[in-house]
Amino acid sequence: MLVDSHVHLNDEAFASDFSKAIAEAKENGVTMMLIPGWDLASSRLARDIARKFDGVYFAAGIQPENITPSWKEDLLEIEKLATDDKCLAIGECGLDYHWDSKEETKLSQKRCFAAQIELANRLGLPLSIHARDASQDTYEMLREHNALHSAVLHCYSGSPEMLRQFAELGLYFGFDGPITFKNAVSPKECVKECPIDRLLLETDSPYMTPVPFRGKRNEPKYIPLIAEAVSALKDLPLRVVAEKTSDNFIRLFHVKL
Ligand SMILES: [Zn+2]
Repeated sequence: MLVDSHVHLNDEAFASDFSKAIAEAKENGVTMMLIPGWDLASSRLARDIARKFDGVYFAAGIQPENITPSWKEDLLEIEKLATDDKCLAIGECGLDYHWDSKEETKLSQKRCFAAQIELANRLGLPLSIHARDASQDTYEMLREHNALHSAVLHCYSGSPEMLRQFAELGLYFGFDGPITFKNAVSPKECVKECPIDRLLLETDSPYMTPVPFRGKRNEPKYIPLIAEAVSALKDLPLRVVAEKTSDNFIRLFHVKL
C-alpha cells in the first residue's frame, strides 16, 4: 500500500480525466490520496472529487499566494467544508515569500495562516502546510500559535537544520519529485535527516514531476518512484518505506480504515 499525501486532482490539468488518474494510481498500489484546496473554489472541488472515490480524501484551505480581500468570509465557508467526513485537514495554508516578500504581504499571509491554525485547532484537525522561502517565519508562527493536532510541511524545501527544529515540534515532512532530481542536494539531505516515522510521500501533481518523466504532467501513479528514491536515500527496503509512510499518513490524518 502506498499513499499520495498531496495531489491536486482538483487542478484544471486533471479536469477531464481525474477518474482515470485515480484508477491508474490504484493500479500502481497507491490506495489513498489527499487532495488539498488552495482557495474556496478548489477546496469545494476537492471535496466533490473525494466524495466519489474510496480512499480519496481532501483538505480545505487558503494557500498564501491565493489570499483575496474576502479571505475571512471564505474561511467561514471552508469551516463548513471541513466538517465533511472526507476532510482530513486544513490546507494547504502557510507562508510563501518566493515571489513577493514585501512586509505588508508577509503580514497578510501571517494573519491568514494564524486564522487557519486556529480553525484547525478548533475543529481537531491537522494542517497541510505550504512554506516556501519562509522557514524561519513558519517555525515562529507554529511556536506562537501551536498546531494542536500536528501538521505536515508539504514539499519540504527548508534546510536539514530547520528540519530538525520542525521535527522537535512534532511535525511531519512531505517529499516529492525533487528528491529524484540528479542535481538536487538539499532535498536529498533532508530525506536522510527526516525520521522515518515523520516522512510522507507525495507527488504534488500536476507539478514536481519526478525523473524520468520531467516535462510531463505529474500523476499520483508515480508515487512508487518517490518511494524508491526514499528507499535508496535512507537505505531501507521499499516494503518498509511503503509501510512506514502509510502508517504515518493514517496516524497524522486520523484516517479511519
Ligand atoms: Zn499543493
